[in-house]
Amino acid sequence: MWKQTVGATMIAVTLAATSGSAAATPAPDGGTAATADGTTDGGLSWAARLLGRQPLPAGDGWAAEGTGTTGGAAATPEQVHVVANRAELVAALGGDNATNRGNATPKIIYVRGVVDGFEGPDGTVLDCSDLADPEYSLPAYLAAYDPAVWGRLAPSGPLEAARVRSVTNQTRQTQINVGPNTTIVGLRGARLTGLTLMLDGAHNTIVRNLTFDDARDCFPAWSPTDGAAGNWNSQYDQISVRRSEHVWIDHNTFTDGDNPDSSQPVHLGRPYQVHDGSLDVTHTASLVTVSYNRFVGRDKVMLIGSSNTVGPDVGRLKVSLHHNLFDGVLQRLPRVRFGQVDVWNNHYRLAGDGFEYAIGVGVQSAVVAEHNFFNLGADVAVDDLLYDWGGTAVTTRGNWVRAAGDRARPVDLVGAYNAAHEPDLAPDAGWTPTLRRGPVLPAPAVPAVVGALAGADRLPL
Ligand code: CA
Ligand code: CA
Repeated sequence: MWKQTVGATMIAVTLAATSGSAAATPAPDGGTAATADGTTDGGLSWAARLLGRQPLPAGDGWAAEGTGTTGGAAATPEQVHVVANRAELVAALGGDNATNRGNATPKIIYVRGVVDGFEGPDGTVLDCSDLADPEYSLPAYLAAYDPAVWGRLAPSGPLEAARVRSVTNQTRQTQINVGPNTTIVGLRGARLTGLTLMLDGAHNTIVRNLTFDDARDCFPAWSPTDGAAGNWNSQYDQISVRRSEHVWIDHNTFTDGDNPDSSQPVHLGRPYQVHDGSLDVTHTASLVTVSYNRFVGRDKVMLIGSSNTVGPDVGRLKVSLHHNLFDGVLQRLPRVRFGQVDVWNNHYRLAGDGFEYAIGVGVQSAVVAEHNFFNLGADVAVDDLLYDWGGTAVTTRGNWVRAAGDRARPVDLVGAYNAAHEPDLAPDAGWTPTLRRGPVLPAPAVPAVVGALAGADRLPL
């Protein structure tokens, strides 16, 4: 019976996802009449021009609050760009990566093909050795800070200082800074590799239809007291959202590309982790909607709030996540501090002995998790879908689970968690989300809809 519901809903959601508020959208920039084959003399299809100017639909999550999110919708024709390499991307964002963060001019940027963050000024692709400080080498670093030699103390001294200078070099190269009032849209097949989109102070920004892969860190830091045996930590997310309001991240795919964690070596007895988050929302950012994305085969996905300090993050970090696919990812789906975070109609496919947890309930967090569907491998337990990072309460309603070898069934996430763990989490996060652009699907309908619609290259570009 619910198949009929799915069919009808899929049509409704397809329309919503692809042409949602088209009627209320200003016409694509004039002067470029569509030709018979649907392209304009600028090489962009009518649909691409329309999608580039599409604002976040009314009521669609926290980013729709108040003034809503329009990105670069007000761009003049001169501020509509098609970019195919790193230099063109930086030019479109304002011309200088060191100052682009302050460029609030409305702009629409279409990405064509592959843009590699490691592309040097002459277009050749740099490697890690090109970015390393002359005083840094990994073999020397490993020899110096091996716990057998150095003890379990944080690295310090000339080699650590050289590593930090190397990180500064890499940040200038692979961290692409985005300013306010920006829309970045991928054309079919567009991919951003080896780079971080840094949305720091980037109010009113939209990122859609892009595949992000392998935002690798050339110079991971050894953290000897992180966990029982120490850990390697990296600092480059695929997208970082900081000190920004009204951000819409929609229909993207996040992977590690051809450089998965499983291919990394072990150093000092621990996996050499060159990747950080897919989409971290930190440093007082708020009013973010994350919809119809795919997060595939990665470790850390989404950190909302990076510090337990009760300070400027209080009352911020408001994020909505809906119709996303979390597929073979290991932790932070999301992990939340402080924020009122609405997690509804997402599909989780979780398996593998590296799996840690899905939703992290952190300090003063207020997560509402409703009508999500969890497909679990044999090595993932229902009581490990939540994790207590110092929180006290979480609302979970209408979620379903299909455990390996079992039928799909409703699941009480917080009840299952409390039955297996102490202290218990209270079953009420204390608020009721209102910014949901319906229909809210029953959980059993979620896998089919998310499977059909989430991720890059599902929009008609
Ligand atoms: Ca991060
Ligand atoms: Ca208990």
